[in-house]
Amino acid sequence: MSLQTSGIHHITAFARDPQANVDFYAGVLGLRLVKKTINFDAPEVYHLYFGDQAGSPGTIITFFPWPTSRKGRVGGGQVGVTTYVVPPGALGFWEDRLQKFGISTKMQTRFAEKYLQFTDNEGLQLELVEREEGAESEWAFGGIPREKAIKGFGGAVLFSTNAAQTRQALESTLGLKKTGEDQEYTRYQATGELGNIIDVPHADMAHGAGGAGTVHHIAWRAKDFTEHAEWRSLAARHGFEPTDIIDRQYFNAIYFREGGGILFEIATDPPGFARDEEPAELGHHLMLPEWFEPYRSQIEANLTAIQVRVLEEDRI
Ligand code: ZN
Repeated sequence: MSLQTSGIHHITAFARDPQANVDFYAGVLGLRLVKKTINFDAPEVYHLYFGDQAGSPGTIITFFPWPTSRKGRVGGGQVGVTTYVVPPGALGFWEDRLQKFGISTKMQTRFAEKYLQFTDNEGLQLELVEREEGAESEWAFGGIPREKAIKGFGGAVLFSTNAAQTRQALESTLGLKKTGEDQEYTRYQATGELGNIIDVPHADMAHGAGGAGTVHHIAWRAKDFTEHAEWRSLAARHGFEPTDIIDRQYFNAIYFREGGGILFEIATDPPGFARDEEPAELGHHLMLPEWFEPYRSQIEANLTAIQVRVLEEDRI
């Protein structure tokens, strides 16, 4: 049996200073901090989730801000560029906005679409593209009106150490359709409206190095727990070595590394971020899984307080 993912569920990356991370993704990009929790494997470090108002699959970028982390190097075996989608006509607004924050940008064209490219405060490579697809944001923050706001992921550019293997994993395992090819990239499309366009450069790339400013893994959507188990069998049948199913509180996860070196996760749409906080209060409280609750005071004492705030540049 073959399966098709509808696209990206979330992307997880490394940062250093947690407040600087919040200031960039909430303050500059206007995403909502939808969950403030800890790295379940390293409880001295936050795990921060930013997305649309509900933290919908296809909009979520997550970070482990590790203050003492080394700087990483973007390269093969990583998501090279994370693409966000904004409404048609919004790119000029974003060019001005990023300039206001002193962030330099450049324009790239791929498959007749214009991409506004920039990096976050750690060097993570990001870009914005205008598309009709995807509902208008219901979240407005700082100087960003809803009609200009980021809708979610447009997709990603995958930097592979073995592009042929990565292309095969996208097509044969994840069920994406090849929709284009130019001199530099092959383009794939998933069935969803967001996080659905994936470009793979033809050239194999030398290995990057993990650390601040790089992506750790990309997660693809499974619509429910039943399909998730099927994804695990499928990955094993295709020669990958999927982990057991891991409970990540807000979704279930399996992980495997594809042949081009990129760590793939398959994550379930349910239960989502409202499982332990009211929709209106998402991201307001430090949420811990029950097995860490006995250590809450110790965990809180080890974390620097962070706040979502409107930045200086938006107050002038
Ligand atoms: Zn993940």
